[in-house]
Amino acid sequence: MKQFNINNLVRQNIRELTPYSSARDEFIGEANVFLDANENSIGSTIQGNFNRYPDSQQWELKEKLAKYKQVQPEQIFLGNGSDEAIDLLFRAFCEPKKDRALIFPPTYGMYKVQANINDTPLDEINLNSDYSLPIDKIEQIINPNVKLLFICSPNNPTGNLIEKVSIKKILNCFKGIVIVDEAYIDFYPEGSMLNEIDTYPNLVVLQTFSKAWGLAGLRLGMAFAQKETIDILNKIKYPYNVNTLTQTYALKALQNSKQKNEMVKIILQQRNWLSKQLTELSIVENIYHSDANFLLVKVHNATKLYKILVQQGIIVRNRSSVELCDNCLRITVGTEDENKLLIKCLKKVNIEIPVTA
Ligand code: PMP
Repeated sequence: MKQFNINNLVRQNIRELTPYSSARDEFIGEANVFLDANENSIGSTIQGNFNRYPDSQQWELKEKLAKYKQVQPEQIFLGNGSDEAIDLLFRAFCEPKKDRALIFPPTYGMYKVQANINDTPLDEINLNSDYSLPIDKIEQIINPNVKLLFICSPNNPTGNLIEKVSIKKILNCFKGIVIVDEAYIDFYPEGSMLNEIDTYPNLVVLQTFSKAWGLAGLRLGMAFAQKETIDILNKIKYPYNVNTLTQTYALKALQNSKQKNEMVKIILQQRNWLSKQLTELSIVENIYHSDANFLLVKVHNATKLYKILVQQGIIVRNRSSVELCDNCLRITVGTEDENKLLIKCLKKVNIEIPVTA
C-alpha cells in the first residue's frame, strides 16, 4: 500500500504529545541500587518482589511472545485485556464528535461502548444474513471521516470466521485503520491475519490470553501492527498498564503453550458433541456454524428458555434482543460434565414444552 502514513491519521494532540516518562524509562544500563522511583526499598507486605514497578514496556514478555507469534517485539502492544487496546485506538485516532468508526453488527459490544465513551460517531452496516461481511455495500458507503473499522473474526456472537479475501479487499480500499479482532482465533488459527501486518500498514490485529489460553483473570490482551502504529498506542497507555503478576504468569503460560493446544482440542471436540446433541432437540431451530468456543443457537423462545436454564443454575447468554440474532442464545462450550448437564436439562424442556410454545 503506497503513501500510507499513520501520522496523518493520529489526532493532532496525540501527535504533539510529550508522553509521561517514568523513572525506569529514563535509565538505560546495569545497576543494583534503585533510588529513582520512590518505591519501598525495604520490601513488600506480601511475599514476592512487588515493591518494584513492573517493566513498563514488558520487554521480556514481548521477546518471548514475538518468537511464538513470529513477529517483531516492536510490533506488539500489551494491555489490560484487548479491551484496553480498543479504547486506546479510539483515543489515539478519533477526534471526539468528528472522526467516525464503523462496525458490522451483530458484533462484540465493546466497540460501540468505547465509541460512545470517546464521543465518536459510529456507523453500522449489518452483516449479511449468513453473517458474512457485506463487502459489496462497504466500498460505496464508507464515510470519508471513518478512521477506525472493526472486523471481529471469528465474530462474537455469531461464531463464524470472516473470510480473509473480504478483509483484504477492505484493507486495500479503506484509507483508515482496519482492526481485526481475533479474540477467538486460537480455535481456528489458519484464519488469522497476523502474518499480514508487514504487508498492510493500516492493519491492527487484536488477540487475547482470555479465551484459549484460559487466562481471563490475568487480564492480558495483545495488539499487533507495524511499529509506527504500536508506538502510538505505547505513547498514550498508562505507564505500568501490565502488572508484575500478569507479566510473570504470561511468561509461564507461553512455556505451557502445548497445554493451550490440548485444551483447544478438547473444546473443539466438546463443541462438536454439543452441536450434535442440540440438533436432535425440536426446541432448537438452528445451530450456526462456529469457529470459536461457543455456539449461537436459535430456539423457539429464547427468553423463556434462558429463564428456565437460570432456574436450573445454568447461565447462557440471551442474545435475542440483538439484531439478526432473533431468539438466539449464545452458549459457551463447557466441560464435558457441564455440557452433559446442559443437554440433560434441555432434553427435559424439549419434552415438557411443545414446539409451538
Ligand atoms: N474481543 C472480543 C471479540 C471478545 O469477545 C472479548 C471478550 N469477550 C474481547 C475482545 C475482550 O477480551 P479481553 O478479555 O482481552 O479484554
